[in-house]
Amino acid sequence: MRRKIAILGATGSIGKSTLDLIERSPERFEIVAVTAATNVEALAQIARRTNAKVAVVADDSRLRDLQELLVGTGCRAAAGEEALIEAGCGEAELVIAAIVGCAGLRSVMGAVEAGRIVALANKEALVTAGALMIDAAARSGATLLPVDSEHNAIFQCLAGSRREDVAKIILTASGGPFRTASAEAIGAATPAQAVAHPNWSMGAKISVDSATLMNKGLELIEAYYLFGLPSDCIDIVIHPQSVIHSMVEFVDGSVLAQLGSPDMRIPIAYALAWPERIETPAPRLDFAAIARLDFEPPDPERFPALRLAREALQAGGSAPIVLNAANEIAVASFLAGQIRFTDIVRVVEEMLHQNDFDAPRSIDDVLGIDLTTRGRVEVLMKANCS
Ligand code: NAD
Ligand code: MG
Repeated sequence: MRRKIAILGATGSIGKSTLDLIERSPERFEIVAVTAATNVEALAQIARRTNAKVAVVADDSRLRDLQELLVGTGCRAAAGEEALIEAGCGEAELVIAAIVGCAGLRSVMGAVEAGRIVALANKEALVTAGALMIDAAARSGATLLPVDSEHNAIFQCLAGSRREDVAKIILTASGGPFRTASAEAIGAATPAQAVAHPNWSMGAKISVDSATLMNKGLELIEAYYLFGLPSDCIDIVIHPQSVIHSMVEFVDGSVLAQLGSPDMRIPIAYALAWPERIETPAPRLDFAAIARLDFEPPDPERFPALRLAREALQAGGSAPIVLNAANEIAVASFLAGQIRFTDIVRVVEEMLHQNDFDAPRSIDDVLGIDLTTRGRVEVLMKANCS
């Protein structure tokens, strides 16, 4: 029996790596649904290549184009939010949640509520609605498998252990492209410099997040919800080689780590085949060539995003939603050349000061806080420009 897979965000970086693995193991996997934001040409090509049963474009003004591109294929074209949710909770047994940003939240929640195996790359969904999502998974019996390499590493290290035996988890961070840059150089960073990650090839938004270290801040919150440890039991260490993907320290002082080349196909393959493993084309580690593994503490002066994320996690309630929404808009503005690199974190900090929302009790509440914060960021940026 082939495992039925839906890929939410099939045209992105994680989506493409997932397709690469699935196309290498056609005897194990069958693609039932693929989705994209607007790029119907790329989506239709994927749907044709994989014989997907349904292709969904989020932007419903592109439905007619998608229908035309799929004529004669037997693949149904659909559009809009309801169709996106349906893609994740229809026929699929395993859903790859690879949409970027809070835009993926409803479809991830749909898959969780439908009790699917959810391979979660879309960290912003967990950051903004972690408690709601973990509760929904407990109710529906859904399995959450982390695809983010650090959380996938921790998941692997935790296998077979009792939670009470865990002392702490240690998230590793590459440090991004500006790890050794001066504060002045970071202040002048361009979008091209910020997306040029030293070790990983990823989508633009997460690449900028890796440069500010907000990515590690989001991952701290992600780890808190996934693994249920107090926030002060989650440490962060800079490890520039990205060979150790994260570690777990147990009460007896033992530390387990998961290592591998920096290739997202390893954690994606782990989730796709779980609880088994499949081969991947990822390069193998050559320890003699790597020669050394370095570690250093993160610098809170040049990278204040980590402090903001920790404060948002400790404040709880609406704070992680505000942190994430402000960051999403600020990163998009930076990529569009409208604000400076160091303004990203300034905008996030200002929005956290303005946070006056009640704790969310539903996904509608989360999306309401998200939308209002986005509006406030736009006002702030306009005021600063005029
Ligand atoms: P990407 O920008 O390359 O792709 C994003 C995908 O989401 C695309 O298919 C796009 O069409 C879709 N999308 C974007 N906006 C949408 C919207 N409003 N509605 C519906 N679909 C929309 O991003 P990526 O790098 O593949 O990252 C995807 C997620 O995985 C992010 O949450 C990221 O943090 C996480 N992640 C990525 C990597 C990586 O190596 N790329 C590693 C760890 C975690
Ligand atoms: Mg990661």
